[in-house]
Amino acid sequence: SIWSNVPQGPPAILGITEAFKADSNPKKINLGVGAYRDDAGKPYVLPSVVQAEERLLAKALNKEYAGITGVPEFPKAAVKLAYGANSPVLDRLAITQTISGTGALRIGAEFLQRWYSGEKKIRVPTPTWANHKAIFKDAGITSVDYRYYNKETIGLDFNGLVEDLKNTPPGSTILLHACAHNPTGVDPSQDQWRELSKVFKELGHVPFFDMAYQGFASGDADRDAFAVRHFVEEGHKILLCQSFAKNMGLYGERAGVFSVVGADAEEAKRIESQLKIIIRPMYSNPPIHGARLAAEILNDEKLYKQWLGEVKEMADRIITMRTLLRGKLEKLGSKHDWSHITNQIGMFAYTGLTPEEVAKITKDHSVYLTKDGRVSVAGITSSNVDHLAQAIFAVKG
Ligand code: PMP
Repeated sequence: SIWSNVPQGPPAILGITEAFKADSNPKKINLGVGAYRDDAGKPYVLPSVVQAEERLLAKALNKEYAGITGVPEFPKAAVKLAYGANSPVLDRLAITQTISGTGALRIGAEFLQRWYSGEKKIRVPTPTWANHKAIFKDAGITSVDYRYYNKETIGLDFNGLVEDLKNTPPGSTILLHACAHNPTGVDPSQDQWRELSKVFKELGHVPFFDMAYQGFASGDADRDAFAVRHFVEEGHKILLCQSFAKNMGLYGERAGVFSVVGADAEEAKRIESQLKIIIRPMYSNPPIHGARLAAEILNDEKLYKQWLGEVKEMADRIITMRTLLRGKLEKLGSKHDWSHITNQIGMFAYTGLTPEEVAKITKDHSVYLTKDGRVSVAGITSSNVDHLAQAIFAVKG
């Protein structure tokens, strides 16, 4: 037939959730999902989002197209959240709304491919979010690994990271997770970010930030923006991808923003004109509903404050689960050091479980997680943390 040449692709990561669903053990736990769950294990719609939704409904807006760069009130407010309301670069940013964080990365990758005069390569941390390399590859950009995570310490390989940055040709584009590194949960400290900024400056490297978890890491949106703001203060012309999937719980609404710091307003304008040229034939213009919701929240003082509180609640629940899990493992008498569970940040934790231990914990205890030993802390609740700790203790000791 016409498509007999089309090969079957490999099974998707969703395999975990399917296996979880098929498991009849009432104590089963799914720690594979990359979305927030409340303490009852349920998906969570933020009350601020519900209110924004009611307001939108009352406005009886039409459904006509946004412009190529989106619903203007949204990206404008989003960059203030990232760069800071008083950032001196706000008037020299090229900005566009995107199809969530993935879309921002894709537009950013395409922009690099067309207009970055250096190598068509992006340096990415080892490991990184599974989709990064695929996104850049589809835009014609090759990913090259730099050292990031140290298996021995279950922490940051800072020396390796700096060494690799110094051994990278000057003027390279480097992908950085702005906060809550996925999948490891391991972030540089503020001092280490300062050090990294200096190394970038020495070598003229170009920072490409992916910020998918602002506010979600520490519970404080300003604190989570430290790296982005510090690099900007130090004069770096950063590129930035923002997602509102996690911090507003807008996953399927696909609300994101891509921005580039220009040398001045005129340069930003030229860059933005090229972003439009990239977007127009790709999808013409972005979805409006999520953008309107986010804009409603970000541009209203009362809703904005409420939202910050809700983000903090989500972050705090995750931090509490980390503390509980570590405490229970220690109480069980585990001979391992579990401090990394509480040192790591954001939605994910790298447990240090080997692929064999992961297979065993799934088979014997119905605990589902990815082979690399990554757990979504959002999947832990006060009612399943005991079973989880016992299961980890049983396979790991
Ligand atoms: N970057 C990272 C590091 C992520 O973890 C995610 C979400 N898993 C994204 C980008 C993009 O997600 P989305 O397209 O849903 O905004």
